[in-house]
Amino acid sequence: MPETQRRQNLTDFFEELSVLEEDSQYKICFRCGVVTMFYAMNTGDIVADCAKIAQATGNQLNKTEINFYTKEIHEKVLWGKQLKAYLDTAIQNQEFLVYLQPKIDTKSEKIYGAEALIRWNYKNKGLMPPIKFIPYFELDDSIIKIDEIVLHQVCRKLKSWKEKGYSLHPISVNLSRKHLEQTNVAEHLTKIVDSYGIDHQYIEFELTESATNDNQKYMLSILQDLHNKGFLISMDDFGTGYSSFGLLKEMPLDTLKIDKSFVDFIAVEEEPNKNKIILQHIISMANALGIHCIAEGAEYYEQIKVLENLGCNTVQGFYYSKPIPMEDFEENYIKTTKDALDKWEER
Ligand code: C2E
Ligand code: MG
Ligand code: MG
Repeated sequence: MPETQRRQNLTDFFEELSVLEEDSQYKICFRCGVVTMFYAMNTGDIVADCAKIAQATGNQLNKTEINFYTKEIHEKVLWGKQLKAYLDTAIQNQEFLVYLQPKIDTKSEKIYGAEALIRWNYKNKGLMPPIKFIPYFELDDSIIKIDEIVLHQVCRKLKSWKEKGYSLHPISVNLSRKHLEQTNVAEHLTKIVDSYGIDHQYIEFELTESATNDNQKYMLSILQDLHNKGFLISMDDFGTGYSSFGLLKEMPLDTLKIDKSFVDFIAVEEEPNKNKIILQHIISMANALGIHCIAEGAEYYEQIKVLENLGCNTVQGFYYSKPIPMEDFEENYIKTTKDALDKWEER
């Protein structure tokens, strides 16, 4: 029987089960993971894990869903295992690189700061983008190793810029949910930064909204702790999750990064442009709360102009620059500022 037919039969079966009684006000929805015999020739525990993985691919609310453990999922699982087994060797071989993407003040066209983004020169075969490996490392604590490699490299660079007499700008590093679950994480991160003698105001921690869903009380206490120590806190990809507005009130936020999905449409959508209206209110609300707004993913001049008109004057996007190696960033953004200042002083 073809897979689509099998899936339909199962859905029909569960649909029948989902209504308890004729006049019931309630409907029970199921989200199931199914492993076919082909992949079930493993031991019991592994089959159960496969079923859980298939189940987790579901995303529908209020609807019964049957998700099969497919060849694509199986290949992804194998790839994830391979990456994890190789991670420590890759760290030893220094295969991880940190790129910096500038955040630009659109009015002055001067640098406001930068975001540090990981790249993997996988087995020295070329750069691999984070989407190919971060999701696998986020499944367990491996992501903590990645985040800390980035923090160390950023601090090392800031230290060398400080020693060369360059003026510093805040650099943001991404902090994953797993990190926020650790005990004494604020002290641990502070220790790393202090070991390089970097002022806390030059390090910003970026959290995605998904990073803030679980155990909110504990997460908020860590963020408050980091904020009290002088670090900057930023919410990444704002507008893509569910709980953003409540969190704005609770979190000690310095920056709100508006997700690229809003920026994509602002200059192209017909009127009434819903994205623009939402954006306008996000920006004015953030401004009123004293939170700095940064728009992510602007690629065109028209987007920059619309953002400026809406009151958002800081942009991180390909229009200004893609993420670039730290040495290029130093050459293009850090050194030039110092050279200009030196020339000005010589006059
Ligand atoms: P993010 O933190 O939201 O980073 C911004 C992403 O948007 C980057 O992708 C950047 O290259 C991309 N971007 C910026 N401007 C533009 C634009 O104008 N057009 C387009 N098409 N893209 C733009 P990247 O470097 O591939 O990173 C993707 C995601 O991977 C990051 O999203 C972040 O969630 C994750 N990531 C990257 N480095 C780290 C890390 O060190 N730790 C953790 N936990 N996650 C990381
Ligand atoms: Mg980020
Ligand atoms: Mg983002």
